[in-house]
Parts: sequence; C-alpha cells; structure tokens
Amino acid sequence: PIQVIKILMSNGVMANINQQIDFDTAAVVASELGYEAQPEVYEEVEEKEVGEIPLWRQLIAKEKPEALQDRPPVVTILGHVDHGKTTLLDAIRDTNVAGGEAGGITQHIGAYQVEHKNRLITFLDTPGHAAFTAMRSRGAQGADIVVLVVAANDGVMPQTREAIAHARAARVPIIVAMNKIDRPDANPDFTKKQLAEVGLVPDDWDGDTMVVPVSAKLRKGIDDLLEAILLVADTLDIKANPEGRVFGTVIEAKVDRAKGVVATLLVYNGTLETGDIVVAGKAYGRIRAMFDFRGRKLRKAGPSTPVQIMGLNDVPDAGELFLVYENEREARTVVEERLQQQQKRLASAPKISLEELFNKVQSGEDHELRLIIKADVQGSLEPIISSLNELGKGGEIRINILHAETGNISENDVMLAAASNAIVVGFNVQADAAARRLAESEGVSIRLYDIIYRLTEDIEKAMKGLLEPEV
Ligand code: GDP
Repeated sequence: PIQVIKILMSNGVMANINQQIDFDTAAVVASELGYEAQPEVYEEVEEKEVGEIPLWRQLIAKEKPEALQDRPPVVTILGHVDHGKTTLLDAIRDTNVAGGEAGGITQHIGAYQVEHKNRLITFLDTPGHAAFTAMRSRGAQGADIVVLVVAANDGVMPQTREAIAHARAARVPIIVAMNKIDRPDANPDFTKKQLAEVGLVPDDWDGDTMVVPVSAKLRKGIDDLLEAILLVADTLDIKANPEGRVFGTVIEAKVDRAKGVVATLLVYNGTLETGDIVVAGKAYGRIRAMFDFRGRKLRKAGPSTPVQIMGLNDVPDAGELFLVYENEREARTVVEERLQQQQKRLASAPKISLEELFNKVQSGEDHELRLIIKADVQGSLEPIISSLNELGKGGEIRINILHAETGNISENDVMLAAASNAIVVGFNVQADAAARRLAESEGVSIRLYDIIYRLTEDIEKAMKGLLEPEV
C-alpha cells in the first residue's frame, strides 16, 4: 500500500488507503509497477467477495459472454404496509397481462408476466406473504429491479426504509411508484423530499431515481411505471444463456392433496423442460407436468419465465436455488449429501458472531463489518451512527450500516442481517421473541446495549480483534 500511495502522490493524487480511485488512475499505478490493468467485465464477480451477490447472478456471470441473450427483467414490489403493493400488483396484472386474458387467471402462483410494447416483464407476486417476512429480502435478492411503493399521503415509513435497505443489500436498483396520488391528502412534493432524504433523489430533481406517480386503485400511471421499468432495464445487463445450464429460484411450494408437491419456479438461465430432473434444496424429482402462470400446460420455459411444476419428492423452501441434473441418480446423491451436511451443521450449530465476522475480516475474506442498528429514539440513533462512521474512518475495515432505525429488533432486521451477513446491534431496545428465534436458526448475532460508549467500544474492539466472546 505504501508503494501504491507513493506512486499516486508522485502523480498528484493525494489518496488515503481507503479511498477509491478510478480505473484510469489505477491503470497508471499498475503500469508504473510493471502490470497492465484491465477493467472487470463482470462487476459481479468482483463483488461476490462480500457475499451479497445472489448465487444465481454469480452463476449467470460464469456463462460465456457471447452466449448471453436479453431476458425479461424480474421485478419485485416492496413498500410499507397499506401503501398499495397488492392493489398495484393486481392493477398491473389486470391491465397488462401477457396474452391479454387477465380474467382467466384464477390462482396466483407467486409470479406472473405482463407485456408492454411487445416486451415481457416478470413480476414476483408475493406481498400476500407479508406475514412471511423472509419473502421481502428474498424478493430483492431474486429481482433485477425493485419497485418501491410509497403512498403519497403517508410518505417514507419504517418498512419503506427497510425495503430500501433490502434493495441496497442485494444491489438492485429502485424505481419509486408514488401511489395514491388520487387522494386529496396526497402530497407528492413532501414525499419526494422525504425520498431525497433517504438517498432516492427524484430524477426531476436532478437525481437518478425515477419516481412515477400512480394510482393503483384507479389504475392510473400503470403504463408509465412499466415504461420506467423497461427504461431502467435497458441500462442494466439483464441477460442469460437460454442454452446454458438450467437453474433458477423456488418462488413458493406446497403440497396439494391431488397433485402432490406443487412448486413455482422462476427460471434464470437455460431452458427448463418437462421430464427434466430438478434438485431444489433438499427436494428432487422429475418434472411430470409444467404450467404457466395462467395454468396452461407448458413444455419449455426459458429465462425469466415463472412456471408451476409437479414431480418433486418434497417441498423445497422458497428462495432456494434449483438446478437441473443429468439423471436421477446424480440428483439423489446431491440431495443425500445435503441432508448429511445439514445434520452435521445442526450438530455443531455454528453461529455468525461478531468475533467470527471479525476473523473473516482479518483474514481478508471480508473487508467490511455490516451492521443493522436499532435504537429507542432518533436522538440516540444519530450519535451512534456518527461515532460508528468515525470508527470506520482510516482503518482497513469499513463499517457499513445497512439499516438504522428506531424500534425493537424484529424478524425483518434479522432477515436482512442473515441475507447480508451482518450483525444486529440494539440500543435501549429488545429483540422480540420471533426475532430471537429466527436469529437462533439463521445464526445471526444480536448484541444489545444501554450505554452508547459500550456499544462503540465493542465495535472498536471487534475491529481490532480484541473482543471478548459473547455471553
Ligand atoms: P399493501 O399492504 O401494500 O399490499 O396495500 P394494499 O394494496 O392492500 O392497499 C391498502 C389500502 O390502500 C387498500 O384499502 C387499498 O384499496 C388502498 N389503495 C391502494 N392503492 C390506492 C390508490 O392508488 N388510491 C387510493 N385512494 N387507495 C389505494
């Protein structure tokens, strides 16, 4: 590092050790050291190290670039309760369903596709699972774009912030659907101001977040929203290899008395066909029948297509990656190995603690300490955040506060921590029972404090590798 900084200085760049430099500057340094710098083709591959890039993205990144083709964007809708997620999803489905027969859709399978200007968009249709909070973080993990619903009469609320944190953790861009603009008490300017305050500066205010006014109830602005989705999609690399290895994600799964295990899968890469042998988590089987979201029989499903399949031997977890295998024997071996591993894991019950996280950071596996902070009042949140940010300065380890909010520690906080390998820090708050249970099963570390300097002291100790084990 000293040599690098010296070369930077001799080139007039006064950089510190944590500073990011642009590619051209890095290339100059590299060439002075006798290397040739090349830009990363797949940013994802590099980012993979922080463990936040969903597996399916990493797998697509491994496909040969020349085999990649555009696929429809996968969109998930997040937002505060009652801001209109369900109504918006219904409005989009009813007005734009691919094939134009919305009336014919009698059952929701957790995802659907709409058509806009002859292009398909896949929506994950899961807000009905609002109680099932894990879906929210999975939604962001499984999507290319997050549509954040914010009611214009209510503005930015706690779950709005949480949704933003989920999208950021998954590195998925956000489009804001500013809903309920039909209401007399709607206040678009105030809502935009609040959005700007949480880092979503509207594009008409010279920011880079598209904010689309809609009324889900009156079905107004839906086309504008779809247009915005396609515009954002065009700036992203939304591709897959339809001929490549077949994989995707389990959207939902259940046992049906008559049909056996019924699972909704979203194909991310390759083309899924009836007769294929699928492994999803600890379930496997040959696809006996496959249906699209309208309940029509399908033989093949390419990238970004949601399908309902029959034929698995067990119910896989939602959010699980699925892969197609050559033959049943191979599939069974994979599943048996997984079951054995799970038993071993359960026996040794590992926990991601602050110490372990720090060990990872120290050994170079990870370069940042990710935190989710909950405090009793805004007044204590601010000094905590600023002193933690102060701690993160100048060291080799970054402190990344993914989410900071007032209130008790909830399941959502733990979910977010699990999804992003973070720890949850509480100040003058409690963790509710559900959160504690989830933390236990997901191995997420929760640390509670009632004195600010103890909290910052612990984090500082952790950063220096001196932390006493948790009690
Ligand atoms: P969710 O909890 O985010 O899924 O919200 P819902 O879709 O269930 O909507 C909550 C309430 O807001 C319902 O009573 C909806 O009818 C109402 N609502 C949703 N969108 C709009 C809208 O655009 N305008 C008005 N006035 N009400 C809406």
